[in-house]
Amino acid sequence: MTPRNGRTGRIQPRSFLIQALEITVALAITLLPLSALSHSEMSDRRFVQVAAKTKYDRSAIAEAGVSIEFTRSDSVWGFATEEAIRTLEAQKIQVLGNFDEEIARGGHEGVWDFPGNDSRFHNYAETVAMLRDLNSRNADITRLVSIGKSVEGRDIWAIHINTSSEALLESKSSKPGFIIMGAHHAREHLSVEIPLMFLQHLLNNREDSRISSLLDQRDIWIIPIVNPDGKEYDIATGRYRMWRKNRRDNRDGRFGVDLNRNYGYKWGTGGSSTDTGNDTYMGPAPFSEPETQAVRDFVKSHLNAKVLLSVHTFSELILYPWGHSYDSIGNARDLQVFETMARTMATWNKYTPQQSSDLYIASGDTTDWAYGEHGIFAFTFELSPKSMWDGGFYPGQGVIDRVFNDNLRPLMYMLDVSDDPYRVVGNSPSRWLKNYVEPKMDEQLHWEKHPLPRF
Ligand SMILES: [Zn+2]
Repeated sequence: MTPRNGRTGRIQPRSFLIQALEITVALAITLLPLSALSHSEMSDRRFVQVAAKTKYDRSAIAEAGVSIEFTRSDSVWGFATEEAIRTLEAQKIQVLGNFDEEIARGGHEGVWDFPGNDSRFHNYAETVAMLRDLNSRNADITRLVSIGKSVEGRDIWAIHINTSSEALLESKSSKPGFIIMGAHHAREHLSVEIPLMFLQHLLNNREDSRISSLLDQRDIWIIPIVNPDGKEYDIATGRYRMWRKNRRDNRDGRFGVDLNRNYGYKWGTGGSSTDTGNDTYMGPAPFSEPETQAVRDFVKSHLNAKVLLSVHTFSELILYPWGHSYDSIGNARDLQVFETMARTMATWNKYTPQQSSDLYIASGDTTDWAYGEHGIFAFTFELSPKSMWDGGFYPGQGVIDRVFNDNLRPLMYMLDVSDDPYRVVGNSPSRWLKNYVEPKMDEQLHWEKHPLPRF
């Protein structure tokens, strides 16, 4: 499969999509009261800049229900409802700028599916087609498994890589495991591409001695789309909707729960919202959503996993627990592993390594739960670009290769050390370079020919 041609088995039945939409719309009109329908199509979200100099300032803003999308030394930018803005103002927190949410979209126009100039991104059907293709071409060491269904009934697919046929058959292994997940958040489409490219890299280079020995000795799971409904909703009109949450009908005209605030460890203890209309709505209860339940049950039955990566965009950050508290994690040895791993990976991708709550308090996320509940070394990557002004959620397909290049070494490192993360302490970054295999990139798509767009 060559990157230039997009992807193998690209399914693009546009007429089918349109038909499916017509049916969906017809059903929606039949099943929903008109007020709910119009509410779901209307948004009072604004894109705001709010004054904030410290993590405490930022936490207060997150607490008011703003989804903070990026931070500067003097302010943050994010999405907020009119109500959240009133909450900020009541607390004398200065709103420096208040814009139509359109400003965050990046000016993309197009037709159904990804806008034409972003067609290299994989929608749900294309992702599944790519997984099926890679799975069938590597059937001796892979298996495609659905770990559950979304609110709207889409399968949440995981691909399992293990050189033991027995492990594949049982979906279980005693080898040490590494789990990668993408797209908890709908609009973070690059967070699907990087896990997919890593999967492809491992399988296409499986004969390479460095990769084959890792494949022999590890249990690998890649779940590229945790939130398929939200992802499809974001691209369904051909214009990005900047959707973050899943597609839960909150029965008040508002839709969606923030899956990365819905995990059950210290759920609802700060930095998430009880307002169903907010981007950071935590849900009615911990693990109320089928998507987070699927991940919970999957991880619980794969506790051979030692390292977990949840991929997000954007800001160029490497984050580790805690998010719900300003305290560092209590276990000094574990903290040293987290800090060493984050710092080491940052030498390669040049992202900023930090404890999640150094940004602002956020509770109910994947990594706090994976570490807090199961002791798994769990990281969040916020991929490129660095800021909204470099493309934000929609930096264009021209950045895909560069972002993958930046992160291949960190990904290989996580895979490498997932047998025993404690062995990272005291080792220099160069110790790990031997397991790095240079990616084979299509020259046409090399990032230098597609500089980051500006707007
Ligand atoms: Zn995210």
